[in-house]
Amino acid sequence: MSAAFTGTIQGARDFLGPHRTAGRTIGFVPTMGALHAGHRRLIETARAQSDVVAVSIFVNPLQFDRAADFERYARQIPADLAVCEDAGADLVFAPSAAEMYPGQAQTFVEVIGLTDHFCGASRPGHFRGVTTVVAKLFGIIGPTLAFFGEKDAQQLAIVKRMTRDLNFPITMVPVPTVREPDGLALSSRNVRLTAEERRVAPCLYRALTRAHDLIQSGAVDCDEVIQAAAFELDRPGVRVEYFAFADPETFEPVAGPIAPNSEKPLLALGAIWLGETRLIDNRLCRFRKLPSSA
Ligand code: AMP
Repeated sequence: MSAAFTGTIQGARDFLGPHRTAGRTIGFVPTMGALHAGHRRLIETARAQSDVVAVSIFVNPLQFDRAADFERYARQIPADLAVCEDAGADLVFAPSAAEMYPGQAQTFVEVIGLTDHFCGASRPGHFRGVTTVVAKLFGIIGPTLAFFGEKDAQQLAIVKRMTRDLNFPITMVPVPTVREPDGLALSSRNVRLTAEERRVAPCLYRALTRAHDLIQSGAVDCDEVIQAAAFELDRPGVRVEYFAFADPETFEPVAGPIAPNSEKPLLALGAIWLGETRLIDNRLCRFRKLPSSA
């Protein structure tokens, strides 16, 4: 199946307008390109749940806190277009930076609170760049449904909150993380890993899994779990940016004793550096139900 391709906002509106008028649902998958099987899963999920599927490919300069990361970010439009078509996209919108940001913008979208910790603390301005571009893309595409990966759990929570606070009539659909057989979460940045770094990289998933398993088996203290699980990250070449538990709704750090029979899951999340490459991942940890003594 072939997908329409446009680099202009008008082109996207011209394509989607008649579908919207006809009452069709529009599923939207925003990406920065260098598409892999994780993105493909998002597009396929959108295909299964929407009448029309739009994918955007835009390496958003506003969300990069390091110029070198922006410059090195893989750009491969022809290969990406093939993935989009194969996964069932109807429209691929790949604007230039000049199309998205003509002149000096004076409007930015910023979610507070949820952005205080973890990636928000270590990448100043990153989430403001994300929410600003996602709000603009929502305004351009006008989706009914928007599909985001759980790999970027904090981003997902922030975009959900923005959608709610700004009353965008859009349903957010989370999509589970797609992984390599050894557990490494797929990421456009994985191609930058050297062979040795790639061998070490699954330690993040192993650490998250250890935290998950300790919580499930009835651990009573967050700090002890983190300490035990972080052992997996103690390897030459790994620099830990953060590895912790968060409240999956507020993204406040959670530490200390765990209330017995707590109903609320914890999110174990981590960011590590391998050389020049930063990897993030997370796992939701649900507590084991203890038999009631009543
Ligand atoms: P990006 O191109 O990195 O901005 O990611 C675009 C979308 O793909 C975001 O919603 C990501 O959360 C999602 N995504 C990235 N990697 C994965 C993965 N391994 N599994 C599922 N979704 C992913």
